[in-house]
Amino acid sequence: MCYHVIMNSLKKFFLTKILRRKYHRTGKCNACGQCCSKIYVKHFKHVVKDEKEFEKLQYLHSFYTYLKVVDKDDTGLVFECCNLDPETKKCRIHKSRPGICRRYPQEELFSMGGALSDDCGYRLEPIISFEEVLKKHPSFGQ
Ligand code: SF4
Ligand code: SF4
Repeated sequence: MCYHVIMNSLKKFFLTKILRRKYHRTGKCNACGQCCSKIYVKHFKHVVKDEKEFEKLQYLHSFYTYLKVVDKDDTGLVFECCNLDPETKKCRIHKSRPGICRRYPQEELFSMGGALSDDCGYRLEPIISFEEVLKKHPSFGQ
């Protein structure tokens, strides 16, 4: 078995069995700024819908102090980040941006009912492809 196949299998094992991930991120950021101007906040298992609750969360993490409420919809409160330059659509603190911004997008986005914007340069691809699932469980395809 060649080196790349072994490394790929190890990577898949680590992501799916250890980290319990279903998707991995591909592509790159094209700095459209959309993910910084429509943000939901998930705390434990729920999306924050209440401003009073959010005020308390601001003591927990500095990232929350960057956010201001701009709307509310069926999912919850909608925030915009104050570090987003409205003209250039670039992050003013790009080099020191929080880890949560560096890791965006992650598959938790789907569990919040969210989706990547059409303009986003990233994609979340299934780690185990549909073809591989079919190979393992051929009865699914019948
Ligand atoms: S800190 Fe920067 S990257 Fe993070 S949400 Fe704000 S503008 Fe976006
Ligand atoms: S939506 Fe995607 S491409 Fe746009 S700024 Fe966010 S991560 Fe980058």
